[in-house]
Amino acid sequence: MTEFDRRALSLPASAAPALMVVIDTEEEFDWAGPFGRVGHSVDALDDLGRAQDLFEQFGIVPVYAVDYPVADHPDRAAALRGWIAGGRAVLAAQLHGWVTPPFDEPLSRRNSYQGNLPPALERAKLAALTARVTDSFGVRPVIHKAGRYGIGPSTPGIIDDLGFEIDLSICPSFDGRRDGGPDHTRYSADPFRFGPGGRLLELPSTAGYCGMLAPVGNPLHGLVASPPLERARLKAAFSRLGLLERIRLSPEGHSLADLKRLTRKLLADGTRVLTFSFHSPSLRPGCTPYVKTKDDLTKLLGTCRAYFEFFKEEVGGRFSTPFQVRDEFD
Ligand SMILES: [Zn+2]
Repeated sequence: MTEFDRRALSLPASAAPALMVVIDTEEEFDWAGPFGRVGHSVDALDDLGRAQDLFEQFGIVPVYAVDYPVADHPDRAAALRGWIAGGRAVLAAQLHGWVTPPFDEPLSRRNSYQGNLPPALERAKLAALTARVTDSFGVRPVIHKAGRYGIGPSTPGIIDDLGFEIDLSICPSFDGRRDGGPDHTRYSADPFRFGPGGRLLELPSTAGYCGMLAPVGNPLHGLVASPPLERARLKAAFSRLGLLERIRLSPEGHSLADLKRLTRKLLADGTRVLTFSFHSPSLRPGCTPYVKTKDDLTKLLGTCRAYFEFFKEEVGGRFSTPFQVRDEFD
């Protein structure tokens, strides 16, 4: 398990909560199928405007974490390039290793987590990604998000070398170990400095536990790590009873009520920096498990809108970007 040495950062309790919006901007692929090098499309890029329009109504400058297939289709990404050039959006790079050259690793679920790749290959793929993104967007990305959020032991050194300054890969309370992925259960929602010379800034995605058992949420999930059926039953039972549920600050698979509950809990715990995120293919019905129909899409966008209203009006929060948040810490 990768647990980085880190220096915690926090805004004063009196600070208005800051919300960043991050869109994992990637190809459409079969979420249930095995990982493939081919057979994906980037058609949903045409639908990014649905989200961008909504963000702009709130004065939100979103982060688009683009991966190789997106950067490889500059024609389809023209609108996005314009928003970035105009300061209406922020560019980040995300590594989907299975569709990023060089193609030297066997395809597997385990290898879909970036940090499981041999360090030299992780470096080569990140270098290829950085070059392709820079070429397509005319800006060198300095914000990084690991593929399937699998930041590994070699990742900080590599991304620091490649000129990245901010990382978005930590997903608090996420435990992907059963799938060969990382264990982020020991991280909180709060930003920190880490990596070579403490130069990298981590801005975790926002996720956490809610419910009566939330204070012991992490150890409990560790305890029920096996066997799988028991674990699934326990999780479902806890969640049904409102005792313990893991929520990601995302409209994918979560209701507005869930998102409000998580937000109130984190704010009460002192968190002042939050990240709202989803995947770009969710903007086109049928491309992710979260949005299968047009109604699902309407619902997803409605949840986004209602959450942003809640964050602004009820929480008294403000919308921010990774760069603005960084400036507050410096
Ligand atoms: Zn992704």
